[in-house]
Amino acid sequence: MPRTVITGGAGFLGSHLCDRFLGEGHEVICIDNLLTGSPKNISHLMGRPGFRFIKHDVTNYIHVDGTVDYVLHFASPASPMDYLRLPIQTLKVGALGTHKALGLTKEKKARFLLASTSEVYGDPQVHPQDETYWGNVNPVGLRGVYDEAKRFAEALTMAYHRYHSVETRIARIFNTYGPRMRLDDGRALPTFMRQAITGEPITVYGSGQQTRSFAFVNDTVEGIFRLLVSDISQPINIGSREEITIYAFAQEILQLTGSKSAIISKPLPKDDPKNRQPDTTVAETLLGWRPQFTRAQGLELTLAYVRDMLDQRA
Ligand code: UDP
Repeated sequence: MPRTVITGGAGFLGSHLCDRFLGEGHEVICIDNLLTGSPKNISHLMGRPGFRFIKHDVTNYIHVDGTVDYVLHFASPASPMDYLRLPIQTLKVGALGTHKALGLTKEKKARFLLASTSEVYGDPQVHPQDETYWGNVNPVGLRGVYDEAKRFAEALTMAYHRYHSVETRIARIFNTYGPRMRLDDGRALPTFMRQAITGEPITVYGSGQQTRSFAFVNDTVEGIFRLLVSDISQPINIGSREEITIYAFAQEILQLTGSKSAIISKPLPKDDPKNRQPDTTVAETLLGWRPQFTRAQGLELTLAYVRDMLDQRA
């Protein structure tokens, strides 16, 4: 039975990966310091054979007994609000945490997969973004703490690959949504859904003409799984090509929820990327991967979760 370590395994993406790898018959060791992750995301896995949770900050030495076959490094604050509030922890987990996770991988002769991000492209001047684009990141901007941590993490991953011959994979993950997102993580999707359901105004930042391309979590997880079992060490974009303006997205959520909330404008955060859309040709050709969920399907499934969460709060 393969043994797989997932850092950040109690987070949104990490917990879905725990589910997926257990489903594939792996033994899963989930490591998380619960800074932005939540025990709720993995409570259904507690006590399940083959699953173990270790509360640990991966910026410190990571000890795991026995063999390890795969290490997936997903620990990091990931929403803009979180990394703006936790800038040092974000830099540390991208730098020191990646170092420790790679060290564990090397020691165990395992295979490593880095959760990188579309943020390595910054505010892109190339559209859509393909993997050959080097990006347009402001290192001293507010988002620099996340963008540069992930860029460093990619560089360190390639260094371990080239100089220590460690088997590595790099997934550049674009906006992903789905059940288990935190309703208060400040991101557009959970915020808009919460506002629409509770009848508060929908807060669109700036003109709302900035674009994003939202992928449903099951599709992202499938892409990550395929990349891990492939033999490709170059970075690969994993994301949806369905691009939409944030204003149109707000309208879509109003329609979906049947809400009468008004759309109001709030100041655009500094360095907010104007456009984001992945070129996923490489994932399509080399991994045979393409998203299966339309936004309408994914949003329906996510809405059911958001409604449940709000009911539990009430
Ligand atoms: N956004 C917004 N209202 C909100 C939260 C976010 O208009 O209440 C905008 C944000 O400025 C960005 C887009 O929605 O242009 C997506 O933001 P999110 O935080 O979801 O992720 P990002 O793609 O910026 O990392």
